[in-house]
Amino acid sequence: MPTISAYGTAAATSPISAMKIERRNARPHDVVIRISHCGICHSDIHQARNEWGNATFPMVPGHEIVGTVEKVGGSVTKFKVGDTVGVGCFVDSCRECSACQASEQQYCEGHTAFTYNGLEMDKTTPTQGGYSKSIVVDENYVLRVNANLDAAAVAPLLCAGITTYSPLRHWKVGKGKKVAIVGLGGLGHMGVKFAHAMGAEVTVLSTSANKQVDAERLGAQHFSVTKDPQTFEKLQGRFDFILNTVSASHDLLPYLNLLKTDGAMCLVGVPDQPTAFHPFPLIMKRRTLAGSLIGGIKETQEMLDFCAEKNIVADVEVIGADRINEAFERTIKADVRYRFVVDCSTM
Ligand code: NAP
Ligand code: ZN
Ligand code: ZN
Repeated sequence: MPTISAYGTAAATSPISAMKIERRNARPHDVVIRISHCGICHSDIHQARNEWGNATFPMVPGHEIVGTVEKVGGSVTKFKVGDTVGVGCFVDSCRECSACQASEQQYCEGHTAFTYNGLEMDKTTPTQGGYSKSIVVDENYVLRVNANLDAAAVAPLLCAGITTYSPLRHWKVGKGKKVAIVGLGGLGHMGVKFAHAMGAEVTVLSTSANKQVDAERLGAQHFSVTKDPQTFEKLQGRFDFILNTVSASHDLLPYLNLLKTDGAMCLVGVPDQPTAFHPFPLIMKRRTLAGSLIGGIKETQEMLDFCAEKNIVADVEVIGADRINEAFERTIKADVRYRFVVDCSTM
């Protein structure tokens, strides 16, 4: 098995540092990918620090992967050497259940092999992510990436992109709909770009007053600071749909009151602590509180093709691997415009 350079951590309390990992030899349906870039998702921080309580170590995070096909197994038909490709949050699934049949592998009823902090389909071998020089993935779980787009700026589409695109499509966001995006970080800034491109009237609700100019540049018509209690009075009953990307525990109630009758708020942020709230705001206006997990292979490809057509990519700050720890700290402080991406050639 080839040994390759990676960056990861041996424990929840250790920093990210250089390490070696092994990748399997290519099986007939495998694609060997030389990784050029990997985005830093807030989920990488939650997991590397075991904030969700399910971490296994050693852990190489990273599930916003872009690279070039270096080698293909003998039975691969979908890709050839030299293709630009992407890998997102999972690298395999049972392929048989109703979710897999519907290409919603993220909701697999059998076993989803998450890209890292997960197990391969043998349910024994730990998976390792994209903060590394290469990865080996079954061709059915690899995405086509338009080589004309900037690879660094495409990487975040593989998680931040699909995680916001999927619920916006599911709740039929488009022309005539008033949409709020809560939290202008990696996910949030993609949510603004997509909701705008789909034709909705977009409002950003943010704790950071200094993000207003960016919010408007990204496509928002309105911007309100959530630290100002007047925001929650002024905007009561305004939105058809709220996409909540906040990574930290917060009171959901004031946001639910911003929905119209029959409006929905979808949570995609996964704080480390649970939140309690009273059901009245839901009941009184038949509102929905929902969640959504990334997106399946078919929809991820659809999103990447939509981005290529509309020239949508992430706003990124590209860093060398030696700055991952600093990037973690700045992401936690909401001091990122709007996604750190690791240049994996620096490993
Ligand atoms: P991020 O770049 O850190 O952005 C989160 C944003 O939330 C911040 O930029 C900040 O925006 C806002 N925020 C932070 N702390 C806050 C607080 N205490 N109160 C209110 N707002 C706060 O993170 P991300 O990578 O976008 O990820 C966001 C969350 O989604 C994480 O929990 C991540 O694990 C989760 N996630 C879920 C999925 C899924 O499939 N459901 C996929 C990927 C990530 P402002 O400065 O604008 O307030
Ligand atoms: Zn992610
Ligand atoms: Zn399945």
